[in-house]
Amino acid sequence: MKRIVYSGLALAVLFAACKSSEKKEEVKKEDILAVNIDSSINPADDFFEYVNGGWIKTHPIPNEETQWGIAHLVQNELYDRLRIINEDAAKKNAKTGADQQIGDFWSTAMDTATIEQKGIEPLREELNKINALQNTQEVMAQAAHMHTYGVGVFYGEGVSQDAKNSDAMAYYMSQGGIGLPNRDYYFNTDERTAKIRAAYPQYIASVFKLMGVDSTQANAKAAAIIAMETKLAQSSRKLEDLRDPYANYNKMAISQLGKLSPNIAWPTYLEQMGVKGVDSVIIGQPEFYKQLDKVVFTENLQTLKDYMAFHLVRTYATYLSKPFVDANFNFYSKLIRGAQAQRPRWKRVLDSEEQAMGEALGQLFAKEYFNETAKKRYEDMVENVRTAYRARIEKLDWMTDSTKKKALQKLSTISKKVGYPDKWKDFGSLKIDRSSYAQNMMRSNEWWNTYYMNKLGKPVDRNEWEMTPQTYNAYYNPSNNEIVLPAGIFTVPGYRDEQLDDALVYGYAAASTIGHEITHGFDDEGRQFDDKGNLKNWWSAKDEEEFKKRAEVLVKQFNNMMPVDTQRINGRATLGENLADLGGILIGLDAFKQTEAFKKNEKISGFTPLQRFFMGYSLGWMHQMRKEELASRLLTDVHSPAKFRVNGPLPNVPEFYEAFNVKPGNKMYLADSLRVRLW
Ligand SMILES: [Zn+2]
Repeated sequence: MKRIVYSGLALAVLFAACKSSEKKEEVKKEDILAVNIDSSINPADDFFEYVNGGWIKTHPIPNEETQWGIAHLVQNELYDRLRIINEDAAKKNAKTGADQQIGDFWSTAMDTATIEQKGIEPLREELNKINALQNTQEVMAQAAHMHTYGVGVFYGEGVSQDAKNSDAMAYYMSQGGIGLPNRDYYFNTDERTAKIRAAYPQYIASVFKLMGVDSTQANAKAAAIIAMETKLAQSSRKLEDLRDPYANYNKMAISQLGKLSPNIAWPTYLEQMGVKGVDSVIIGQPEFYKQLDKVVFTENLQTLKDYMAFHLVRTYATYLSKPFVDANFNFYSKLIRGAQAQRPRWKRVLDSEEQAMGEALGQLFAKEYFNETAKKRYEDMVENVRTAYRARIEKLDWMTDSTKKKALQKLSTISKKVGYPDKWKDFGSLKIDRSSYAQNMMRSNEWWNTYYMNKLGKPVDRNEWEMTPQTYNAYYNPSNNEIVLPAGIFTVPGYRDEQLDDALVYGYAAASTIGHEITHGFDDEGRQFDDKGNLKNWWSAKDEEEFKKRAEVLVKQFNNMMPVDTQRINGRATLGENLADLGGILIGLDAFKQTEAFKKNEKISGFTPLQRFFMGYSLGWMHQMRKEELASRLLTDVHSPAKFRVNGPLPNVPEFYEAFNVKPGNKMYLADSLRVRLW
């Protein structure tokens, strides 16, 4: 559901350190929309390139990055500031409090001399445990233990609201346990994927060689691990098949789990992981758990142990000595995602710190840099977008009155969180010391595991945020029927909020973020949840059929797009995001039409407010990716690539034709009969 813009990385976009230094100089800033365009491109043929092409040409992707765009500009401005905070904290040598945690985390992670000297030692205790396992039951007990510190061997799991009862927290168990980015990598036959699959055994073998295993044995271990993972992948669902919330919801009593996995003593292992206060769990993909039982209990003990050791080292590789870091980088970042060089260490450390205790860092910034005026601007904007959506739903000619009534009820109850949380998480019990980088990360993963497990059996905390305020991202949570909009997502790098005109901001924030997230409440997944946040059908059969028929037009449009070589977008897997993009533009625009800026119709830098609205939307996707990264995301990401999040939805928007004089024959032109008519 989330608008994970650049998922995979912990995107620490600490908010706007740049802004305070600019306060004094009231030099008129260049218009960001005017300076980034490529005027050699006709906006009616390729709107994305027209708006962002100038910037893209002059800002090639740095060697150490696999993608580069507006989010990275914001992030880059803030890394420096964060670094100073960390260095200052380290110098203080504090014995308690956030300064101690931040200072010790930083010093230990930056102390490469000690890290090199220790090599794999920080993982020794856990590796010894794996080595001593005597049978499959012990293997599964160790696997449960490894889950508590973030090594997801054999399966996936986690705590979240019960999709059918949003007042309760539930424990979810899902498919998982594989080392390639998803199940398709084990089977797809295209050249790019085949090459990655062919390199996987060499990577696994290299990890064992670094642990002192001879080459022949290392190769044999790699082959056995991949054979086993392939069996898990075989019973894993495809990306698009994970979108049906009913098919991926199978509640079972813990005492009945033996029906799925007769040999795995789940009640014992669940207790070990910290599952308590519930007597049932929700199984995402039951067939996976049937297969898991067979795989684990027919597999050779040594292979199970090797598999666990490999996943332990792989998961913690980036916190170990250089040979482990390099092997991990060469496979996952260089080969799969196309990076040319590693990012500087200090930036990688800041990303890990964000993962470990991001809210502690965010707290230092949010209130200072996202002032009350900005908070109010965006809170008001949410209400304007909501009003616009209400009017649209009321006017729909395809939806019956009874369903409309329920849709309007759901819309009116969507709650909003803007900027930063009212209550901050308390990291006081997280032990960070100077023992080792890997162990600090291990303890932080344990802390988070305990934090989530402690929610089971207790009332739902609806005030909580699942993103830090400095994140360049936002989400809709169907169980809370809420949109969550961190301060970071509203940033335009190099500009203070008050320097941005309403047309730009309505495109950049009201359409691409606020409208987008609200529309998620009514996309192919979100619409299946009611106003109380429960998975419960409130649609009449006829309305549901109309919705699907109209959404199908968008599926087909995206299925025809080829972002890299001949590899296409998966229109069904990306449907929810594409619907949210299109809906966001439509309602963001309706809301913009109510503003003074639109009504006055004054040009800025030669562009009308309507033009600037669409350009502001496109600015939010000013972003480029390496081919490898793009290819990987087409298999794993439910978001379409940036360019297609602009050029994909806009041909369905009538005002876009008017704004940029799009005519038959232009590449952005779509015959009226082929356009999506949904919201
Ligand atoms: Zn989204």
